[in-house]
Amino acid sequence: MVIVMKPGCQDSEISEVSKALESLGLGVHISRGMERTIIGVIGDKRLLNDIPIELMPGVEKTVPIVESYKLASKTFKPEPSIIDVKGVKIGGKELVIMAGPCAIESREQIFEAAMAVKKSGAQFLRGGAFKPRTSPYAFQGLEEEGLKLLKEAKEAAGLLAISEVTSERAVEIADLYVDMFQIGARNVQNFQLLREVGRSMKPVLLKRGPSTTIDEWLNAAEYIMNEGNYNVVLCERGIRTFETATRNTLDISAVPVIKNSSHLPIIVDPSHAAGKSQYILSLSKAAIAAGSDGLIIEVHPNPRCALSDAAQQITPGDFDILCRDISRIAEIVGREFTHGG
Ligand code: PEP
Ligand code: MN
Repeated sequence: MVIVMKPGCQDSEISEVSKALESLGLGVHISRGMERTIIGVIGDKRLLNDIPIELMPGVEKTVPIVESYKLASKTFKPEPSIIDVKGVKIGGKELVIMAGPCAIESREQIFEAAMAVKKSGAQFLRGGAFKPRTSPYAFQGLEEEGLKLLKEAKEAAGLLAISEVTSERAVEIADLYVDMFQIGARNVQNFQLLREVGRSMKPVLLKRGPSTTIDEWLNAAEYIMNEGNYNVVLCERGIRTFETATRNTLDISAVPVIKNSSHLPIIVDPSHAAGKSQYILSLSKAAIAAGSDGLIIEVHPNPRCALSDAAQQITPGDFDILCRDISRIAEIVGREFTHGG
């Protein structure tokens, strides 16, 4: 439930309502909008039966949250959230681009990728160290060794680092090396893992599963937020459909649908959606035009030799063209992105 305060209500009225809620053991989340302040109530709203909240000074009305997810909903917090990762703001005016190889393979590879993506304007270096592969015989990632290289490379290039965590042990290890955790598509409903990253306060990029509805995806975000970590960014990466021309089908409509249902930022991963390098540029442009807050793109110094996802990784040269085009589209849709950093 949320409590909508009257326009121009006093700060003292907001704090009286907050105090009344807290005295019942309920949590309070205050969103100050341009016109109104909205107080989100966290906890069992039946506890409110005994106090006439709607009669308190400054209160306009109470509104139930009808969605199954609460903290992630736009009713709970109408203003868009901006997730600040060490000064890089995701969900603000500036677009955020995360780029780098599918997997960290060697020192040379990750350093070369880091320098190249930084030069084109990316703010984050991506690279998998715990790789969830369809086949157990495929390259599984360098694990902690890889994360050490990722950290060295991102520091040398002046970037932030993001990497996927696949287990509680991976969370503990990755915590030492990355600035943001990635929950992969296959783990979007691994509730134990979601709770684990929820207990850490580190920002989380939550990918949509290949067969996850938007409602299920936002409930997955709710698991993380319910542990106290509100630093969640969503990532649309394609869903499974009858179409086989691409690896997955990029659900571009997820971008406006999320903007309509949630305050959380959303970025798009065209690489795992398309599965083919020749489509990455078009899908990236479409994502930004549709209102995405950024992109996560697989870039490899030599895609043909990549140990995973070789067909979808793009070269640093193509990534540079992509960043240039994105900076132009950003202007048209009222966003900012500086090609060349
Ligand atoms: C990845 O980004 O490395 C990855 C495995 O993506 P997804 O979880 O979307 O398949
Ligand atoms: Mn990949």
